[in-house]
Amino acid sequence: VAAGCGNGEEPGSTPPYLDSAAPVERRVSDLLGRMTLEEKVGQMAQADRSAVAKHPGMITSLGLGSVLSGGGSVPADNTPSGWADMVDGFQSRALATRLKIPLLYGLDAVHGNNNLVGATVFPHNIAMGATRDPGLVRDAARITALETRTTGPQWVFAPCLCVSRDVRWGRTYESFGEDPDLVAQMATVLEGLQGKAPADRAGPAHVLATAKHFAGDGDTTYGTSTSFRYTVDQGITITDRARFDETNLAPYVTAVRTYDVGSIMPSYSSVDWTEDGVGNPVRMHANTELLTGFLKQELGFEGFLVTDWEAVQQLPGDYAAQVRAAVNAGVDMFMEPSSAPEFVRTLLAEVRAGRVAPARIDDAVGRILAAKFELGLFEHPFTNRGNIGAVGSPEHRAVARRAVAASQVLLKNDGDVLPLAASQRVYVAGVNADDLGNQAGGWTATWQGASGDTIPGTTILEGIKEHAARVTYSADASAPTGGHDVGVVVIGETPYAEGVGDVGNGRTLNLSPADQANIDKVCAAIATCVVLDVAGRPQIVTDQLTEMDAFVMAWLPGSEGAGVADPLFGEVPYSGRLPVTWPRAEAQEPINVGDQEYDPLFPYDHGLTTARR
Ligand code: BGC
Repeated sequence: VAAGCGNGEEPGSTPPYLDSAAPVERRVSDLLGRMTLEEKVGQMAQADRSAVAKHPGMITSLGLGSVLSGGGSVPADNTPSGWADMVDGFQSRALATRLKIPLLYGLDAVHGNNNLVGATVFPHNIAMGATRDPGLVRDAARITALETRTTGPQWVFAPCLCVSRDVRWGRTYESFGEDPDLVAQMATVLEGLQGKAPADRAGPAHVLATAKHFAGDGDTTYGTSTSFRYTVDQGITITDRARFDETNLAPYVTAVRTYDVGSIMPSYSSVDWTEDGVGNPVRMHANTELLTGFLKQELGFEGFLVTDWEAVQQLPGDYAAQVRAAVNAGVDMFMEPSSAPEFVRTLLAEVRAGRVAPARIDDAVGRILAAKFELGLFEHPFTNRGNIGAVGSPEHRAVARRAVAASQVLLKNDGDVLPLAASQRVYVAGVNADDLGNQAGGWTATWQGASGDTIPGTTILEGIKEHAARVTYSADASAPTGGHDVGVVVIGETPYAEGVGDVGNGRTLNLSPADQANIDKVCAAIATCVVLDVAGRPQIVTDQLTEMDAFVMAWLPGSEGAGVADPLFGEVPYSGRLPVTWPRAEAQEPINVGDQEYDPLFPYDHGLTTARR
């Protein structure tokens, strides 16, 4: 049945936008021609699952373009079919609109489909950067895409193409590293997520990706501003344009030109081209020069721009001024989790008052619709659950375990004490040896992540026990004795996400007193002392390093912690290399910026190797 009318076609004939054989541009222009202004503006709105669950009627009444699950915004039935049922339920409401435009469902699948308990959870990006293996990064992302699409969502807010220039940043672990070339190499993640051929996106195993946070999110200046929070997250990138291009824009060139990334999310941060302090920072969400000038015009980006969570509300002025500034700067979709109706009302009024051009609305909506056509949503609006049995499967977990093993960075190995032998009597200490939540970090089950058994998987201790028969474990290192051949002390961080993880916001790079005590006790009592660091970024270990025979950066391995033990026991050689510089002291950060001498504890790219046993 024809959805439109008045376009001159025969009653009952299929309008061009519903013709799957027609080119996408033709379908977009045909559909745009049938839409009212209200319907167009509705497509530009995205609400959170919780708001939509409370008021499901808003999907139909607003003609809502998209729904998201913010971190931890999960259905009551947090299972693969629970997710698919929820997304399909929302989709039914979208299909009840006049033009039957399907809904796009997005979420933060940043290291696996990590909101879904039971999904395969990969190491965070910083660990993937340590592998230096773009093929592995692509294969992991392929699994993430499949485990996401088969449970409903067709769109992920990943990857972070942030270039982390200061490890005090709480999002350091979301970055592939400090080097823009490394980050660009790891953009293979986009091929894994979206597929290689454009047609892959319409299939059951791929999703639309989002490169974020455009741009400079990891390159902000620490605590210089009076008008912004004293933090690096959501801060200001103070630099000249040439250095900004080289450091922060370069990965986006690859994302657009090589991988045709489907969407890009502007950053909460601001840029300031003046070199001598905060002159006139421009928020990325209102940065016409970079959003429209650079991305859309210069690079030819054909996807759409989606705001970060309520980011438009951080712009100056009242809500109307905020929405107007962002849309006129080039933003296409608005992540307004609990205020989508207000957004629609406001933008409609702005257009009617002549302050936003109808052509800008058509450009925005055209981009969003093109993505929906490319994803095949008009033909297959409901979830293809054919791969649902593969979610968290042993095969997928095996790939994650390989990634964990490949990401381990051996920083010190005096006397070649590593790899360990299965016959050795191993004493293991430290909470992080046996805590799934801690080893997975933030963006796992919940937004900030949490300690404890939040997800199924294997711990580092379980991995050690797979390799060695005689293992003693004590979280607080009580009574380590020389009876043991080797002590393995697992130190590290507890989960955090975003600004919560910033140093200066209650976090520090220094070791906790408990970790320091564990190192002291175990290394004093047992002849061979190995330390594993389970953290999203380098920690300050300068004073403890002399006590250790071996030191390994294990990062945040995700659900397959046992993979940490594979190189430890020589199942595979150590091969990871530091994707960020390891400072001697917190005060050295940002160690890569400015005139200071480069004198780190371990330089960028450091990583020893071992023989296979
Ligand atoms: C984060 C984004 C994320 C969004 C949606 C924001 O707070 O900055 O990275 O995609 O929330 O969950």
